[in-house]
Amino acid sequence: MPIKIENLTYTYMPGTPFEKKALDNINITIEDGEFAVFIGHTGSGKSTLIQQINGLLKPTSGNIFIDDVDITNKAVKLNDIRKKVGLVFQYPEYQLFEETIEKDIAFGPKNMGLSEEEVSIRVRKAMKMVGLEYEIFKDKSPFELSGGQKRRVAIAGVVAMEPRVLILDEPTAGLDPKGRDDILYEIKKLQKEYKMTIILVSHSMEDVAKIADKVFVMYDSKCILSGNLDEVFNEIDTLEKVGLAVPKVTYLTRKLREKGFDISNDVFTIEAAKKEILRVLESAKND
Ligand code: ADP
Repeated sequence: MPIKIENLTYTYMPGTPFEKKALDNINITIEDGEFAVFIGHTGSGKSTLIQQINGLLKPTSGNIFIDDVDITNKAVKLNDIRKKVGLVFQYPEYQLFEETIEKDIAFGPKNMGLSEEEVSIRVRKAMKMVGLEYEIFKDKSPFELSGGQKRRVAIAGVVAMEPRVLILDEPTAGLDPKGRDDILYEIKKLQKEYKMTIILVSHSMEDVAKIADKVFVMYDSKCILSGNLDEVFNEIDTLEKVGLAVPKVTYLTRKLREKGFDISNDVFTIEAAKKEILRVLESAKND
């Protein structure tokens, strides 16, 4: 069942001098099993939106349906929403606090009232899902780990609650390029192998190009553009107007195309560019 957001508006501190409309009439659908990315600059409303999807904030007006249930309805319990929709905040490793990784990841499932045995199964599974080997890491302190590993532990803590929808706010922030790629790969795996619906917040077009099925562009509290990767990346003018850009490699390959090379218009990653350029060179050789 898709996530459907209808006419969603949210205002912080209404009726005060600090009143601020953070979401303005948002209408979007995310399909089951899809990888959706929200992109936009700081202050465009991304964090506010994802907090609505897991019930942390209630809309000023509008509706959010998950599994046909309107979660904005007062009768819907927050705990029931959280079981379905897990949220990984920005820099989630700051919230690690237990003395071992195993205990940290077990915290969420334990709070759900699961048996010790079930908690232990969940912890092992969640560690595997994020690429942390159980025997190697279980007794380590989270504080002994690298930045990327800490972040995986934090993600595993949410994954261990087995949500069907996983929301991640800037999961690559502050990591080096290798760390960023590793985390994106693990998250993509959660979608592909474990059939989770993923909602990810980012401001990097390079990251988006590597992973997204669907892109939502946020600007000034509104969703101004949405669609598949190529649909959104073809709207270069609109993207540039709001201070975003397509990946650098796309500018390069489109320039080559302008110069007469028979290169696809839809090259968004370095990997794809390499393939396309080699293909063009190969066919030139054969001519
Ligand atoms: P993003 O995640 O895209 O950076 P946010 O959702 O955090 O955007 O913010 C959207 C707007 O709401 C911004 O103008 C921001 O200043 C404002 N805002 C965010 N959180 C609060 C808050 N707790 N109180 C008041 N205004 C807020």
